[in-house]
Amino acid sequence: MKDFIKIENPKSCCGCGACVSVCPRDAVAMKEDEAGFIYPSVDEALCVKCGKCAEVCVFTQKNKGANGDPAVYAAATEDKDVLLESSSGGIFTELANAVLDKGGTVFGAAWTNEMSVSHIPVESKAELEKLRGSKYVQSVTGDTFRQAKKLLEGGRYVCFSGTPCQIAGLKAYLGRDYEKLLTIDIICHGVPSMKMLRDDLAYVYGGDLSEIDRIKFRDKRYGWGTKGSILSGSSRTKYDPGTSPYYFYFLKGEVYRESCYNCRFPSEGRQGDITLGDYWGIRQELIKLMGEADPDKGISCVLVNTGKGAQWFKSIENNLHLTLSDRKSVEKHNKQLTAPSAPLPEHRELLEGYLKNGYSAFREGYKKHFKDHVIRTAKNMIPPKVKRGLNDFLSKVKG
Ligand SMILES: Cc1cc2nc3c(=O)[nH]c(=O)nc-3n(C[C@H](O)[C@H](O)[C@H](O)COP(=O)(O)OP(=O)(O)OC[C@H]3O[C@@H](n4cnc5c(N)ncnc54)[C@H](O)[C@@H]3O)c2cc1C
Ligand code: SF4
Ligand code: SF4
Ligand code: SF4
Repeated sequence: MKDFIKIENPKSCCGCGACVSVCPRDAVAMKEDEAGFIYPSVDEALCVKCGKCAEVCVFTQKNKGANGDPAVYAAATEDKDVLLESSSGGIFTELANAVLDKGGTVFGAAWTNEMSVSHIPVESKAELEKLRGSKYVQSVTGDTFRQAKKLLEGGRYVCFSGTPCQIAGLKAYLGRDYEKLLTIDIICHGVPSMKMLRDDLAYVYGGDLSEIDRIKFRDKRYGWGTKGSILSGSSRTKYDPGTSPYYFYFLKGEVYRESCYNCRFPSEGRQGDITLGDYWGIRQELIKLMGEADPDKGISCVLVNTGKGAQWFKSIENNLHLTLSDRKSVEKHNKQLTAPSAPLPEHRELLEGYLKNGYSAFREGYKKHFKDHVIRTAKNMIPPKVKRGLNDFLSKVKG
């Protein structure tokens, strides 16, 4: 008889949901803690002590991930509409389209009607818009690992996209590779809880949250950056680090679940066949090699980690503005490729304040960061072209 999963330290659970999916008795369910982070909870009356939930856990078993020397590209879709709706270069949509063209199913994170974020399956290009765009909060994988397995067992193509820990969780649950499975992970610095986001939306939006149609964390009408909008009917409320304590703390890295500060995946090889991220700080000389690419509308960094990833990427190359790059250049402005986010001293204080006083702790702390707001706002006012020129200059000076 084996023991079931027990979370003794929140640092050791990323909430991927593999243990929920693997349980033959449906005895494991995700429950929110006081801060809104989800952790597995076992119904002992149903449990038969098979131990599968503990064995599948990605935070306790070694999962090496793909090679450490991927082919790296700077890329952006040629489809201007898709680019505008995507957070970076729209590569996710291009890959997803390729899988849908083969009659496959694409899994990714979507807003639900209850104003939360969950993984869902999509089978048509029209529905893909639900998955498009970054949702800066933890997405619940729910039943999607099981759904993906069923489709793969039935011989269908499946594309599964998510954070590295979700892809590692899926792979641990599947237990083997499938030729028709394409996995895409994103470069990830961490996720806050849905409860925190809801509290923040109530503060920033003010009205009834059920009126909100969609939150765009990255609204390209403001360029390629971290300014967003809350969309409700025909109204648009600004949502960015200058208006939202949540967004501000998200970017500072102060409100993630504990596992994110202990994340294994930056150092253990990439989990996806392909990794996607923002190519922050891209050099002007690289952009020049990308034909018509518009750096003010977003450029992705693409890490092609496996042979399977290379085949899929080749199949979409003709739809992209593209140039070869290297991992070092991407890492320079994307620390999450080498190490997890470091918890700042304010992290604990903020979390304890949130547990004691609720969302007001976010608001109070936010006021203290007034200087940071001014600097960030001033930075946001510098035209992107000038910023890129400065970055290029500084890179050259630093060597
Ligand atoms: C929480 C989070 C943190 C991120 N941190 C970084 C970072 O530090 N550096 C960096 O370069 N890029 C980061 N990204 C990735 C980046 O914002 C883009 O999502 C990525 O470059 C893909 O862009 P795209 O234009 O190709 O596609 P898009 O259409 O913009 O992206 C859609 C893809 O993102 C996935 N996705 C969206 N929200 C979530 C979510 N909550 N959980 C799991 N998957 C999600 C969808 O399933 C889909 O695969 C982060 C994304 C998220 C969601
Ligand atoms: S030990 Fe087995 S039956 Fe019990 S919760 Fe874990 S997977 Fe389910
Ligand atoms: S890391 Fe994933 S598999 Fe492990 S306990 Fe947490 S949710 Fe379950
Ligand atoms: S930082 Fe690591 S643990 Fe946190 S959501 Fe991202 S991949 Fe998962």
